[in-house]
Amino acid sequence: MFQGKRQESADKNRELPVPIKELDAVVLSHAHIDHSGRLPYLIAEGYSKTIWATSATRDLSAIMLADSAHIQEKDAEFLAKRHKGFIEPLYGMRHAVRTMDLMVGVPYGRPFDVVPGLKATYIDAGHILGSASVLLDCTEGGKTKRLVFSGDIGRSGLAIVRNPVPPSEADALIMESTYGNRDHESVEGARAQLAQIVRETAAKGGRVLIPAFAVGRTQEMIYVLHSLAREGAIPSIPIYVDSPLAIDATTVFEMHPEAFDRSEEMVVKTKDLFRFDLLHYTRDVEESKALSRAHGPMVIIAASGMMENGRILHHLAQGASDPRNTILVVGFQAEHTLGRRVVEKRPTLQIFGDDVALHARVEVIDGYSAHADRTELISWLGRVKEQSPNLGPVWLVHGEAPVQDEFRTTLAALGYSADCPEPHARYEF
Ligand SMILES: [Zn+2]
Ligand SMILES: [Zn+2]
Repeated sequence: MFQGKRQESADKNRELPVPIKELDAVVLSHAHIDHSGRLPYLIAEGYSKTIWATSATRDLSAIMLADSAHIQEKDAEFLAKRHKGFIEPLYGMRHAVRTMDLMVGVPYGRPFDVVPGLKATYIDAGHILGSASVLLDCTEGGKTKRLVFSGDIGRSGLAIVRNPVPPSEADALIMESTYGNRDHESVEGARAQLAQIVRETAAKGGRVLIPAFAVGRTQEMIYVLHSLAREGAIPSIPIYVDSPLAIDATTVFEMHPEAFDRSEEMVVKTKDLFRFDLLHYTRDVEESKALSRAHGPMVIIAASGMMENGRILHHLAQGASDPRNTILVVGFQAEHTLGRRVVEKRPTLQIFGDDVALHARVEVIDGYSAHADRTELISWLGRVKEQSPNLGPVWLVHGEAPVQDEFRTTLAALGYSADCPEPHARYEF
């Protein structure tokens, strides 16, 4: 699903790469909305065959697609009311619900027949809960070749999820390249930085406001704060998760311990990863409002991650002008979002149509990306190559054009035959 400028992405999202009639199945890599967000549109256009996913991806999709349908319906309603033109929602709630009827969950490592002659197997991509790379074994004329789709590739050492498993015996590879031109801070560095920010803000009697994407990043923050609290690395101040969607997503996490990384000490030793005495979930609007009136240091985690909507806006409207507070940015902030203006430390922010002076401390932790960086992508590919004596072409996808191009050059210098395919191009391998 394309996101961004309203009309532009609405047009792009209505354009399908192949007619519905020619589709035999869908194999989904993970629940992030850029990958799953248009599935209900397929259903609205008449698709009625199977959608494959891992079990955790299926359950995360249930809440994310319902949320996406809800946002689109609300958006259309809002525009109609303001007479700002009408954009028909891409799909409605009934299509999101019907998508779940068609979605079949399969475990990692268990091959399944997509269509005759095409067998697929999910392996862990280590990116978000349930994320997968897909091995596609294609048999034609008695010969089998393996096409691998990397999906979004995660990082070693991320909380909760396992490390990415590089596929073996690939003949050709479709690979993501989002951060093909730069490296992130380390995961361990991010953890230490978080602890220090919480300690310093609490000492001043302020609040740490963490805008976080409801699915994935919020659970990661809960997990890290839990482990810091267990070590006594942060003071005993209340931590609020103030987002109904994040609360639902946390429940889905709790339903899928099979996807957790059993090599992490806390996963093995703690029964309730997402429940501890400092942590409070606020679902009710009234409870959320009460937080504004509360006193003393605290941590508040709320959506949306880019500060464009959701309850974080109320906390920013009330807390951005207080120099004791810290706004802690733990995710990517796109251009033209309130989040980007916070990161740029603009002197005033526009929230709900009002000017709010920005006096709070602003901190950015870059180490929480769920995507492999350049070094990690190269090392993942190196391990694929080691286990794939016949590795042919590597097709790069999922990155901005200049980044993809730079990464292609980097890979070519390392001896790979890498290419950045144009949409609708056809290849043989
Ligand atoms: Zn993703
Ligand atoms: Zn993605």
